[in-house]
Amino acid sequence: MSSNKPTILLVEDEEAIRRFLRISLEAEGIKVVEARDGALALASAQRFRPDLYILDLGLPDLEGLELIGALRAWTRNPIIVLTARAQEALKVKALDAGADDYLTKPFGIHELKARVRVALRHLVTLEDPDARPVFSMGSVRVDLADRRILRGEDEIHLTPTEFRLLTILARHPGKVITHGALLSEVWGKAYEHDTHYLRVYIKQLRAKLEDNPAEPRQLITEAGVGYRLLIDP
Ligand code: CA
Repeated sequence: MSSNKPTILLVEDEEAIRRFLRISLEAEGIKVVEARDGALALASAQRFRPDLYILDLGLPDLEGLELIGALRAWTRNPIIVLTARAQEALKVKALDAGADDYLTKPFGIHELKARVRVALRHLVTLEDPDARPVFSMGSVRVDLADRRILRGEDEIHLTPTEFRLLTILARHPGKVITHGALLSEVWGKAYEHDTHYLRVYIKQLRAKLEDNPAEPRQLITEAGVGYRLLIDP
């Protein structure tokens, strides 16, 4: 991170929302830079090198998706998009374009702060993608490089497909990976609409990895969109 105080670039054309979010985030010890449109956002992104982006997809000039593409040309820092309720398809496109997470308006400030914390926590991982082949999730310890997964002393065996799915989710902890992206990476492009495969394998993974598979805390469902993996800091 650029300083000990994380910097967020907040891109939103509605001034009232900007002000509310800025005050709330500053109270968390975060530095907030504001931009009201896509062009200003790109200029501020270059100038301030933010640790995290919060990006409204309904912007007046540059389309939100274009802005994600432009940012992803040079930064891997997390992007959280804000969407309206009726924009389900746009949400998925934004995630596939490189956004990490989304919130549907209207959202509560506690929800936003929780997402920001997850994103900032996983920023460390993003900065060095190869540094974390070993991580913990609940009482399970995963070593991706050695392909070893332990609960206490007990080794947990994953099938090759389960392992591949876990690896893809673990590559970007905290990030929502869409159904389409997971299916085409694990099974191939021809299967990108076969979400029932995912449901089956996620269920199997939860049974093996979650402390309480009925109430998953690591493999999180994002209804209608995809899944995310939360790992311990
Ligand atoms: Ca807007």
